[in-house]
Amino acid sequence: MKCDRNRELMPITLVLLIVLRFACATEPENNSAEETIIEDFFICRTCGNDVSLTNLAFDKYSPLALSATNHTFTEKRTILVQEVQNPRGIRSNIFLVRQANCAKVHPWSSKSTWFPGYAWKVCVCPKCHTLIGWMFEPIENATAEQNFPSDGGFYALIFQHIISEGYANSLLMKEKALRDN
Ligand SMILES: [Zn+2]
Repeated sequence: MKCDRNRELMPITLVLLIVLRFACATEPENNSAEETIIEDFFICRTCGNDVSLTNLAFDKYSPLALSATNHTFTEKRTILVQEVQNPRGIRSNIFLVRQANCAKVHPWSSKSTWFPGYAWKVCVCPKCHTLIGWMFEPIENATAEQNFPSDGGFYALIFQHIISEGYANSLLMKEKALRDN
């Protein structure tokens, strides 16, 4: 008898949860501070670790880019993706964010930088250690004590190594829909 009552309560609880989630999702519309609303997460394509937020993406042209195209990452956000090449001839497609989650690594280098005036170091996923991009810091601030970019610096993430969580979830939903059929 007790079990039957629980079964009746379950759909009601689910409906309540959905209503609450909807209310929470629509509430911040009148908030003018865009940074406080999380649009979507950028996650490591290899392990799913949070890397950054789509809100933190910004465009800055590299004078050394081989090409630049606008890519629609989410419904709301189009991001500049630039193709760059290192001295070994290895090409990468990068986009920029103001903050990212990288492991602490070796010192800055100012050689062969894609952004003149900025020193760089690699950005490795703290969880799976895949190379996910590079960190950039104004050369004058790029000291041994400055482990990560300051407010004047930024991060370049490798387009092929990052996925938005919304897109990842949409893929999972599609797979589930196929299984259900
Ligand atoms: Zn990872």
